[in-house]
Amino acid sequence: MHVLFVTSEAFPLIKTGGLADVSGALPKAIKSAASFNGDIKVLLPAYRGVLSKLTAVKEVASIEALKQSCTLFSGYLPDSDVEVIAIKNDVLYDRAGGPYTDESGADWNDNALRFGVLSRVASLLSKQDSPLNWQPDIVHCNDWQTGLTPAYMKLVDQVTVKSIFSIHNMAYQGNFDGNVLSQLELPAQHFNMNGFEFYQQLSFMKAGLFYADQLSTVSPTYAKEIQTVHYGFGLQGLLKTRAEQLTGILNGIDTQDWNPATDSHLIKPYSDKNITGKKAVKKALQQQLGLSINPDAPLLGVVSRFAYQKGLDLLPSIIPQLVADGCQLAILGSGEKALEDGFVALQKQFPNNISITVGYNEPMSHNIMAGADLFIMPSRFEPCGLNQLYGLAYGTPPIVSATGGLADSVRDTTPETIKNNTATGFVLKNVTDASLLGTIQSAVKLWQDKQVWRKIQKNGMQTDVSWSSSANLYLDLYEKTLDLHKKTLSQ
Ligand code: ADP
Repeated sequence: MHVLFVTSEAFPLIKTGGLADVSGALPKAIKSAASFNGDIKVLLPAYRGVLSKLTAVKEVASIEALKQSCTLFSGYLPDSDVEVIAIKNDVLYDRAGGPYTDESGADWNDNALRFGVLSRVASLLSKQDSPLNWQPDIVHCNDWQTGLTPAYMKLVDQVTVKSIFSIHNMAYQGNFDGNVLSQLELPAQHFNMNGFEFYQQLSFMKAGLFYADQLSTVSPTYAKEIQTVHYGFGLQGLLKTRAEQLTGILNGIDTQDWNPATDSHLIKPYSDKNITGKKAVKKALQQQLGLSINPDAPLLGVVSRFAYQKGLDLLPSIIPQLVADGCQLAILGSGEKALEDGFVALQKQFPNNISITVGYNEPMSHNIMAGADLFIMPSRFEPCGLNQLYGLAYGTPPIVSATGGLADSVRDTTPETIKNNTATGFVLKNVTDASLLGTIQSAVKLWQDKQVWRKIQKNGMQTDVSWSSSANLYLDLYEKTLDLHKKTLSQ
């Protein structure tokens, strides 16, 4: 089985969020699955700095897509045998700033073309005359940036190779003015409701949902949620009609990068058998962040994008009470300016208890995950969420809302779940500031009972959050997609 895994980010090459973690880890897990007999290649744009992070890089082909001349480079993900094909076109991809936005956070105004080219190249590589001399059986697309691939495969290249489209977040759909259609070389007759049009706009996400042979998303609960008005962002109707082809598979974590026993970012490693190192990490973190160094102050951690989705706007109003209760808060993230400014003001007001680091900082994210006593994640919706999984692995029980992957991965602490050793975190009744405060307060109360707390930590640390079982579920999905294909051919 040959798989082309198409993505707009992959850790450690380029990362803005969970999609990168998945794209960096899932192909590795698939490749090493005992039942996988085949090959998987990751396709992504060669943004600035990407090629220098690959190992054994070499130029392998040239290709023209949407009138843009591209060079394809092959290399390997660091410390891995997963091959990456990077699309080099310096006009499109070699820029300062992020993969989707410039340095001020504004979307690149040629994103339709930039990700149109990514989608177009993926489709061209699925053809028999692919310049790679390698043809996939399955093209696995991820999120809107790759959404046009299934449309090109079906409508333009008319290949029989199968496509899967995975939804990592319905909130980001890649909708553009219809006048980009001709630049993207899409057949205009499909710019309608039964095609890639979404309210007079071209929608990359809708194209993926409409034309892919199979769909998946990153948790079973989110697979159900997105078929409803509240979570479907206007595409719930289409998702409902495709419910039979939609599978929810919970993400795993890369246990090479996220393991407290081997994490090189930490001052001291620790594990569920010997957790004492966690205390040293907490102390170092308090010191680094300018918080008062106090092992008895419950330290709450936040690492997140500051977006409405994440529910962090519930925090500022309850911070004075948390401080009065003796809690400390270590926050890392960036996004909505008002929230950034609000946290900065609270840090000024409570410098011994509140720390905010605005920006993206991989080592600090590991140290907060390890040094905190509790991890806060009150998302309004959460397709899967990775931080709560890191929290489980790092003995930092997460406080989460009951949505998407959070609901599928965290078991609330109740007298019963304490007794039967299944409690791993704390689940909010409602996404409100009162509910968040109440839940944090009861969690902190339990934290003081060291025996019960060790149990909760252990339950989380012993939960299998690796990719191994989920990678097998993706393999089942690949098999199913190919079997369906064989069945159609033999009819
Ligand atoms: P999303 O993809 O919606 O942002 P996830 O929880 O799925 O949320 O994944 C977020 C990933 O990005 C995690 O690996 C998290 O640690 C990381 N992350 C988010 N913000 C930051 C930041 N400011 N610094 C470092 N890592 C961050």
